[in-house]
Amino acid sequence: MSKISRRDFVKLMGAGGALSAFGLAGCETAPTKASSTTPAKAAPRVVVVGGGFGGATCAKYLRLYEPELNITLVEQNANYVTCPGSNWMLGGLRKIEDLTQNYNALRDKHGVNVVIDRVVGVDAGKRLVALASGKTLAYDRLVMSPGIDFRWGEIEGYDEGASQLMPHAWKAGPQTVLLQKQLHAMPDGGTFIMAAPPMPFRCPPGPPERASMVAHYFKTHKPKSKILILDAKDNFSKQALFMQAWEQFYPGMIEWVPATGGGKVVRVDPKTGTVYTANGSSEKGEVINIIPAQRAPTLAANAGLVNDSGWCPVNQSTFESTRVPNVHVIGDSSNAGAVPKSGHTANNIAKMTAAAIVSLFRGVPPPQPSHVNTCYSLVSPDYGISIAAVYRLGEDGQLQGVKGAGGLSPENASAQQRSQEAGYAAAWHKGIVADSFG
Ligand SMILES: Cc1cc2nc3c(=O)[nH]c(=O)nc-3n(C[C@H](O)[C@H](O)[C@H](O)COP(=O)(O)OP(=O)(O)OC[C@H]3O[C@@H](n4cnc5c(N)ncnc54)[C@H](O)[C@@H]3O)c2cc1C
Repeated sequence: MSKISRRDFVKLMGAGGALSAFGLAGCETAPTKASSTTPAKAAPRVVVVGGGFGGATCAKYLRLYEPELNITLVEQNANYVTCPGSNWMLGGLRKIEDLTQNYNALRDKHGVNVVIDRVVGVDAGKRLVALASGKTLAYDRLVMSPGIDFRWGEIEGYDEGASQLMPHAWKAGPQTVLLQKQLHAMPDGGTFIMAAPPMPFRCPPGPPERASMVAHYFKTHKPKSKILILDAKDNFSKQALFMQAWEQFYPGMIEWVPATGGGKVVRVDPKTGTVYTANGSSEKGEVINIIPAQRAPTLAANAGLVNDSGWCPVNQSTFESTRVPNVHVIGDSSNAGAVPKSGHTANNIAKMTAAAIVSLFRGVPPPQPSHVNTCYSLVSPDYGISIAAVYRLGEDGQLQGVKGAGGLSPENASAQQRSQEAGYAAAWHKGIVADSFG
């Protein structure tokens, strides 16, 4: 995207009519209404909520595309632990430090105003964001990228308290550390049970990758142990590739039970380590990982951004909410047609949304790019598989997969190709972290 001068930018915004002039910039200031006699004083304000792959990338690229913007990123934690790679940590291939990011580059290199605070409310009428500290931030456009929340209680007995005994580890950080500690404490010959969630959820290949990495840990440390995957679905991402590799590396160790085979977990008893399934049977495990059904966070729902699906519908060209004007929703919280919920797409769509926002400020049509998703999974340290797809806006306004583009790693590939893909997985992680946070 080409750069224009500050004077031209303000002039163009006037011509575009979207926002023709701005009042004082900064905190505790509501947007000033445009008037023909009000001189343009300050740059438009964009507030970005959530410093994950979606929010961090969007804040950075807003700055790169339009240096004149006043950009504030609000994130509740000073550090961000990437979910990508957190399964590798369970396999003993990474440490939490390897996955932990900070916001120094966004602040110091890109001039983003980084605020470590929790957003507690959005007043879309007044265009204000309220923070737990009591401060408010005014915006001209708001980008929401708060990730996911869980549908607590959908599995009877599984709530936030129960997740301290049966971790979900589906938000990386303390939960991943807890699950790892439990695996380390488990005796050889124990059973690890994983409840896999129904669609849609973040990172569809994440559960089988986790089973693979736990199997690698067991194979090298506790070879008599077993893994039982109880699934709320009848199939899973990259299924044939995973199952083929499980036979090769972990024969007899991993059992997968689909929903129609009685796999759906409906109740848990964290005290006794028991899970109960829809067909009335129960299983006991030494370590139990419940990955619950998911939804957009309550913050998004309270801001009026969520519909009956539990996610945030958006104009899939600009990612502006179809329910609340001037608010864009990106990342896992949004409903982006056929595009899966992944760090790769959150990063990709964040850049497109940054370009759309700058275009809207300039009063020019937003670009209409294609989107890409690539997702690598490790089955063992030197064995990687991947899925890739390209998405484009259809005539119905929905992002759809482009036929013939992308695909899966081939079945029966050579050991050398699997090893190369394991290398690409590590390089992908390094690259996306640098692009989002560097
Ligand atoms: C085990 C696992 C493995 C994965 N592996 C991959 C992979 O290999 N490749 C891939 O592409 N994707 C992968 N993913 C998916 C990826 O992590 C998510 O899709 C991605 O993080 C979504 O980005 P986001 O910005 O929407 O949300 P997040 O990354 O979750 O960021 C949301 C941020 O918002 C902040 N926040 C939330 N509420 C507030 C509030 N009220 N105030 C302030 N801040 C707030 C949170 O603290 C968080 O930092 C994996 C996920 C899991 C669970």
